Amino acid sequence: MALKYITDESFKTLAKDKKVLARFDFNVPMDKNDPTKISDTTRIDEALETIKAILETGPKKIILMSHFGRPKGKIDMTYSLEPVAKYLSEKMEMDVTLTETALDRGIKTLLGLNESKIILLQNLRFHPEEEANDREFARLLSAYGDVFVFDAFGAAHRKHASTYEINAYFKNKAYGGLLLKREVEALDRITQNPKKPFVAIVGGAKVSDKIKIIEALLTSVDKLLIGGAMAYPFLKAQGFTVGKSLCSDEDVSLAKRILGMPSRNKIVLPSDHIASTTFGGEPKEIGQANIGDEYIGLDIGPSTLQNYNDHLATAKTVLWNGPMGLFENKAYAKGTLGIAKTLAGLKDAFTLVGGGDSVSAVNHSGLAGKMSHISTGGGASLEYIENGTLPGIQALKFGID
Ligand code: AMP
Repeated sequence: MALKYITDESFKTLAKDKKVLARFDFNVPMDKNDPTKISDTTRIDEALETIKAILETGPKKIILMSHFGRPKGKIDMTYSLEPVAKYLSEKMEMDVTLTETALDRGIKTLLGLNESKIILLQNLRFHPEEEANDREFARLLSAYGDVFVFDAFGAAHRKHASTYEINAYFKNKAYGGLLLKREVEALDRITQNPKKPFVAIVGGAKVSDKIKIIEALLTSVDKLLIGGAMAYPFLKAQGFTVGKSLCSDEDVSLAKRILGMPSRNKIVLPSDHIASTTFGGEPKEIGQANIGDEYIGLDIGPSTLQNYNDHLATAKTVLWNGPMGLFENKAYAKGTLGIAKTLAGLKDAFTLVGGGDSVSAVNHSGLAGKMSHISTGGGASLEYIENGTLPGIQALKFGID
């Protein structure tokens, strides 16, 4: 059974003059100095295309829903979707009515009115039943719509009432949105017969967070280039010294386990480093794999970058997750920016960047437009690559009993 999207003719027939209930991921970051201001609107901007496409089918109403932050099952107006409603209304040049709660009694009346074409339900996580994947809560939400659209890719790895259980009430009436379509099609180019050579670059801070994806990737990649603090447990496991670099015993054991796998020869590690005696100190080039006692490794060195670039030069598929060093500090950003530049220059390859920090590094580098795909869902994209699908997508595709 194939996943149906809103581009399908059957959606257009079902949605016309009907109520469309649509789940998005409007969990946007807010400005630290001004809590009413959204600091990065990407997630809402990505949803606009889907909302416009739904509107074009001529529905009676669109009822939007999302979670926002972690209010822990209680009404906490710090996590109100008000700024999202305001932004959506400006962008759509239409009124967006925000409800008091997702189960507010007034919603029934609103649904009967001719005005209020677009309704946004207040934060779903004000109700503990949302994260508990509660069947009754899902049923109450489902009563707002005749057709269901799921476009919350960033929340598709969660089994929550609005991402999972709700599918019990929309048999043959559940569709993926346009963002979900783009994400799934891009990720499938990594998980299903990727064009070879397939090179993955994994960086960041902790092996334990990424052990599953590393193990999954080792079966399909030709090379796995490791950078960032992630590299030190692997180096230590091979007998190199890592000085005062981030490197927990737990991560060294995990690295040893990975290095014991038959596909270990696919792993490429740094051969030189940029280090310092403190986290913000003067950067020093260390022209060998061993790091002296007093140093902290903070970036990959120039020879490593050159070697990684050589591996990438012939790649046809590239996946990048996690920075090559402490890139937030300019002195240690060369490796991460170097990789971003290399990927941007690959003419013949499919390049996918997934995972929070590498995405922000690419955005800051100004090279985002040169990547084939940038995944908006950090945890969701990693889990998709590990398992080839996500609970929210399976439920949408097959329904649930
Ligand atoms: P992750 O969320 O696992 O992708 O980790 C990203 C974080 O790892 C970023 O904040 C980086 O600054 C940090 N990081 C990467 N390399 C290093 C390093 N060598 N030393 C300390 N932190 C690092």
